[in-house]
Amino acid sequence: MGLFTKKTPCPICGGKISWFLPTKIEGEYICDKCSSKLDMEQEIQDGLTMQGFREYLAFYEQNRALAAGFIPSHKLDFGFLDTKVVFDAANRLFCMSAKLDKTIFEGAQLKSFTIKEDAAPLFAGSADGLVRYASTVPERLMSLAPQIQMMAAARRTAEAMERMRRDEDDHRPAYRPPMDIPEPFKQFNVELWMDHPYWNVIRCDMSGPIFSNDYPDPDSYLREYQENAGEMEQLALALMAVGFPGAGEVYAEPGMSMGMSAGAAIPRTAAPDRAADDILKYKSLLDAGVITQEEFDQKKKQLLGI
Ligand SMILES: [Zn+2]
Repeated sequence: MGLFTKKTPCPICGGKISWFLPTKIEGEYICDKCSSKLDMEQEIQDGLTMQGFREYLAFYEQNRALAAGFIPSHKLDFGFLDTKVVFDAANRLFCMSAKLDKTIFEGAQLKSFTIKEDAAPLFAGSADGLVRYASTVPERLMSLAPQIQMMAAARRTAEAMERMRRDEDDHRPAYRPPMDIPEPFKQFNVELWMDHPYWNVIRCDMSGPIFSNDYPDPDSYLREYQENAGEMEQLALALMAVGFPGAGEVYAEPGMSMGMSAGAAIPRTAAPDRAADDILKYKSLLDAGVITQEEFDQKKKQLLGI
């Protein structure tokens, strides 16, 4: 009989409790409809009281009003199918779900963010400005090239020897031992540090490129990497636009660690090629509606030093 014991109804809405793994708050079961509204840092949820949950539901309803007025201007898909973040440039909002079925964050709630390649910094943004770090991935990739060449040569020799051992009328494909080359890095790690009652930090990641075991090619790896790094740059620029509009941009000196303030970095003036590149990037953000014409003009003047 124990299996079919009637559970007491949801203390929030009186609804039926699911028989399958219902969510518990302060030792009490709540229904799936109420628990589907939960979107907060796991540690905060773990310490949530029933009173705290009622307060959260009031916050949730207010937040849904923000979702209703959300005008998507720019979204970034990383991973295979899922959009990880969508922006509303006009209202300075963002959401970690394209369906807008998760918390809507205000740009003003963003304290700072970092984008790393494994543990190595690539971008850091705050009210002090956007700091760009030189990636070590291309360099590490190039240092793998001799190893890849040696392994490929050894494999060709093994294949040739197998062909010599075989009968002439044996047309089965030769066995190709896989080449297992370690990738220069595993993933981009994004951390958004928030001033928010239910989120201290939002974390997400995107896998870096993977070598083909059959034919690991540093050039195609580099192309794919540059595409991924470009997406991370778009993310950094979009976060700056909603979080810290008007903040400047600085390049980190090689070897500068992430903890150092942006003020210690080199103010950007020189490097006209880089300025031209950046203007094109901001132009694409303008075209995508992430930034306004005014913001674009301001950025262009700043980049050109005029
Ligand atoms: Zn309920």
